[in-house]
Amino acid sequence: MPKKDIIAVDIDEVLYPFLKEFVADHNLKFKTNLKVENFSTYEFEDSLGINRRKSIQRIYDFSSKTDQINPEPIKDSKDAILKIAKFYDLVIITSRHPQYQDITVKWLNRHFKNVFKSVHLIGYHKIIQNPVYKSDICLAIGAKHIIDDSLDNILDCAKKGINGILFGDYPWNQGNLNKFKNITRLKKWTDVLNYFGIN
Ligand SMILES: [Mg+2]
Repeated sequence: MPKKDIIAVDIDEVLYPFLKEFVADHNLKFKTNLKVENFSTYEFEDSLGINRRKSIQRIYDFSSKTDQINPEPIKDSKDAILKIAKFYDLVIITSRHPQYQDITVKWLNRHFKNVFKSVHLIGYHKIIQNPVYKSDICLAIGAKHIIDDSLDNILDCAKKGINGILFGDYPWNQGNLNKFKNITRLKKWTDVLNYFGIN
């Protein structure tokens, strides 16, 4: 059988509704009135009105219980991922901190059992001493495509020849993509299926 092409898939906001769950938890815990639609950047401190160190701490505190919260995957992602996996090798590349490997895999196993060939947690490059970028992993494993909601990640990958699928139409991932031939914005998982010609 010929080797399948590899697609790298992000987790948060692509498979896992991280911000929605984070906001709900934060509002309860800190009596705030945050709304997902007000996050115009994915730097949470911008919306939380606290410094980066505190913001990261709150993200980490929340991250440590992401498997207990156990939300359903983002709409249509499960069905789409299972279908795509018949034709492509799927690999997870996430900016979650490596310390959350176990709980991340636990959630993936619950909803996407045996689908992903490998799971790479690389941490958030802006706060890591020797950062690894998603494009580094894509090049190392030979991924041809990446599905990610971060415009920064997609731009970096696209510049290195990886085909970028900017997932979702989110306040934090707006921008003009016209000059990039190898970037496509796809707003939902059914669009991703169409893009790959899978029904
Ligand atoms: Mg993401």
